[in-house]
Amino acid sequence: MSDYIVKIIPKDPFYKVSDVTLRLAKSFLQMRVRCDFIEVGVSETPVFVDCGENLDKISCPECGAKLDPEWWGEAMDQAAECGFTSLKTEMPCCKRLMSLNDLDYDFLCGFASALISIFNPVEYIDDKMLEAIENILGIPVRRIEAHI
Ligand SMILES: [Zn+2]
Repeated sequence: MSDYIVKIIPKDPFYKVSDVTLRLAKSFLQMRVRCDFIEVGVSETPVFVDCGENLDKISCPECGAKLDPEWWGEAMDQAAECGFTSLKTEMPCCKRLMSLNDLDYDFLCGFASALISIFNPVEYIDDKMLEAIENILGIPVRRIEAHI
């Protein structure tokens, strides 16, 4: 059995959500969403929030070139060395300086200092639900759909 996890993160990787606000969002979702369970968490510095087996390819957002997974792994290692406090990296294709957060991940991935994970929701977590979460958190969010 594989798990389907919908992860909701702030669009800004460095944005800190307070525990109180996160708990509010969690109780709201627990009332509205049928699922196995919901987890929330925060971290000091951004962590990579992935889409699991759904990750098919990563492309350059500037010129559209497909990025070599090996190059990406090295860029991630470099960023990890400074605890992901800086996500800027030079693209191998067009030499533009881009944030690892803004690469074209297919499916979508991202970096975040706060994370809401909804395990095996029965209904799709739609844009309306995301808007409700954005209202609670007071910031724009990103939806990441993972299969593990
Ligand atoms: Zn490029």
